[in-house]
Amino acid sequence: MNFNIILPGLEDAIITKAEEIKGTYRVHIKLPQRVQQCPECGNPTNLVHDYRIQRIQHLKMFERDTYLFYHKRRYRCLCGKRFPEKNKVVERYQRHTIEWNQALGIRVIQGKNFKDTAAQFRTSQATAIRRFDHISSGYLKEVKELPKVIAIDEYKGDTNEGKFQVIIANAQTGEPLDILPNRSVETVKNYLRQKGSHVEMVVMDMSYSFKSAVKQALGKPIIIADRFHFCRYIYWALDRVRRRVQKEFNEYDRKKCKIMRHVFYKPQDKLSKKQSWYLERYLKQSEELKCAYQLKESFRIWFETSKKNGALMAEVKEGLKTFYNQVIESGIKEFIQAIKTLKNWQIEILNSFAFGYTNGFVEGLNNQTKVIKRNAFGFKRYDRLRLRVLLHHQFKVKGIPVI
Ligand SMILES: [Zn+2]
Repeated sequence: MNFNIILPGLEDAIITKAEEIKGTYRVHIKLPQRVQQCPECGNPTNLVHDYRIQRIQHLKMFERDTYLFYHKRRYRCLCGKRFPEKNKVVERYQRHTIEWNQALGIRVIQGKNFKDTAAQFRTSQATAIRRFDHISSGYLKEVKELPKVIAIDEYKGDTNEGKFQVIIANAQTGEPLDILPNRSVETVKNYLRQKGSHVEMVVMDMSYSFKSAVKQALGKPIIIADRFHFCRYIYWALDRVRRRVQKEFNEYDRKKCKIMRHVFYKPQDKLSKKQSWYLERYLKQSEELKCAYQLKESFRIWFETSKKNGALMAEVKEGLKTFYNQVIESGIKEFIQAIKTLKNWQIEILNSFAFGYTNGFVEGLNNQTKVIKRNAFGFKRYDRLRLRVLLHHQFKVKGIPVI
């Protein structure tokens, strides 16, 4: 019985039989007889010596585990040499088809984790991981030169190299470009020295060590403080005041205030009736908390106004100064502490309004990593996690080519 079906990846093969046995699909194939070159003497030959049947695992077909029964022909040469025919079905000493290996390679990069991918291919996690290690570095297009605007942020990869890594991203597109093994000034500096000759702007969280690494490696790029990171100082200050003040509340209010603490952080005009009621209740009990809350609101309004297109830098700067004065007048120590940090980063903060770049997307990358880590063992290794994250983004844009 002969089939005239062409199977992708097996275009060459002649299917001699296909059957379903105990839920598995078995396809018998052979290749057309062809002149072969003797590996020993180099002469051509088409003398068939014998056939051997090789059972090879193939990709699932029709949702069934599929095996190829490859009737592999052996040729003989006039010189006496016997050798198997050339084929694109299976490599020597392999139990899986070339097609299977390629498909697995694609799935281990795209898939959520190794476990599901391994199950889908009826193989072990160890095989899936080995396959990933084998092919992934070949796929990754390493960044040779960083773009003009980059973002640097802490990255919680939690790998064998340590809990925190550093992520370098394109701040204009949000695309991750690299993950460095650790946060040391040396690591960041060396990396930027190698690849940063085109960099003109750097968006970063407010870490002095990043700033120093950037300055040492790149000279005088424009440094931009990330909005989320500098706003956080004000929200932290309010939180500290709330915790200090609520200790004096009665037990009920103390517990409830803690539970309802989000009402302090939400923009005032976005509060529901119920939330406003709670907010009023707590602000009435402490003049200081009320004052801290008003400072947060005036910071927020300054921030929203400054963010708007067309905001004049002189006004943005003036607004920040006014806020500093309000803080000093209030005498609330948590806020005075916070504006000390803001003052140290004032140029970088103002730059964030002048240029409009943020690191906001890094948060998304961090969350994605959490998902990868939760689902998979095997990503404790820094090099593997790095490849997984970078490749995932590379292929999200371009798709995976079969190689
Ligand atoms: Zn020969």
